[in-house]
Amino acid sequence: MENRYDPKQIERRWQEIWQNEKAFAAVNDYTKPKYYALVEFPYPSGQGLHVGHPRPYTALDIVARKRRMQGYNVLYPMGWDAFGLPTENYAIKNHVHPKIVTAKNVRRFKDQLQSLGYSFDWDREVNTTDPAYYRWTQWIFLKLFKAGLAYKAEMPINWCPSCKCGLANEEVVNGVCERCGTEVVRRVKSQWMLKITEYAEKLIDGLADVDYVEKIKTSQINWIGKSQGAEVDFRLVGHEEKLRVYTTRPDTLFGATYMVISPEHPYIEKFKDSIENYEALAAYREESAKKSEFERTELVKDKTGVEIKGLRAVNPVTGAEIPVWISDYVLMTYGTGAIMAVPAHDERDWDFAKKFGLPIVEVVSGGNVEEAAYTNTSSGILVNSGFLDGLEVADAKQAII
Ligand SMILES: [Zn+2]
Repeated sequence: MENRYDPKQIERRWQEIWQNEKAFAAVNDYTKPKYYALVEFPYPSGQGLHVGHPRPYTALDIVARKRRMQGYNVLYPMGWDAFGLPTENYAIKNHVHPKIVTAKNVRRFKDQLQSLGYSFDWDREVNTTDPAYYRWTQWIFLKLFKAGLAYKAEMPINWCPSCKCGLANEEVVNGVCERCGTEVVRRVKSQWMLKITEYAEKLIDGLADVDYVEKIKTSQINWIGKSQGAEVDFRLVGHEEKLRVYTTRPDTLFGATYMVISPEHPYIEKFKDSIENYEALAAYREESAKKSEFERTELVKDKTGVEIKGLRAVNPVTGAEIPVWISDYVLMTYGTGAIMAVPAHDERDWDFAKKFGLPIVEVVSGGNVEEAAYTNTSSGILVNSGFLDGLEVADAKQAII
């Protein structure tokens, strides 16, 4: 016997035995306790596995093997999340049917995973491009549709005029299409949406019952994005229509010194005739359309915007007339496409107010709002806020709704 470990020989031999004997297949044995180890299915790209794949698979493989030794009936499946743009692109470019490309990529991924010796139950392999699989995703979609949870909405997306398709934020690089280099524009498209927000409460409550580390729970909560807020209507001087905003902080209403609407907000067209600088607004909107949502909200170093001349709003609690601006950091896809700006307690609003010389009024005490936005306002005492003065933040929220 050789006294050197030769992985090519030894591992291949055992992997073949595991496969032939279905060593890791889950069986219908109800006398054993059950253990379901589920890991995210990869997207089988043409490049094969990258190091990010074996990392979680190895961790869970250790757990799965340990549970088997402890007498559990373990189900540790693997599959392919195989629909995707890269395959579509490759197929278009090379004139091959995506089905052929997908099958080839899957084979490569499977070979690689098997050579790593994972204890997956290959009898349970699934593939999202298999009609026997996606008939169930279609079935689920119809259930959602019938329950009113799948609906169509007009949403602005990143659009490549040359590829004639929508792009994910990651596919827009420096304002151009990653595939063809054409300048990407924002275009409003009718899209299917799933009303996951309906379940925000349930999803968050459910986190109490799972064994996650605190950090993961927190990021889950942020991702679910449950925000408890209120819609507030601002009167527009000389118009019947009101400008509606959604805010999670109605308690800071006294500090709203101006408003910002998205450059795509329908009011710009609606009030075109009474707006004195329509041309400037339209030019700004055109520039904004070239940026992705990510660029507009995350990458911006310097705030830009244009004041709408001829359109003013009224702060409903102070009665003061306040200006309305357009700026690309306000998106039509979030809330109502309009915000009340509270520069004393929001960094973006503060930057904007400083740049354009707009008033900053402190309404939660504790900071120095001339120096920087004071955002540590989950608690604190209200000031400069009329009937809310002296109240704690939580009480002020209750008092104003
Ligand atoms: Zn393109």
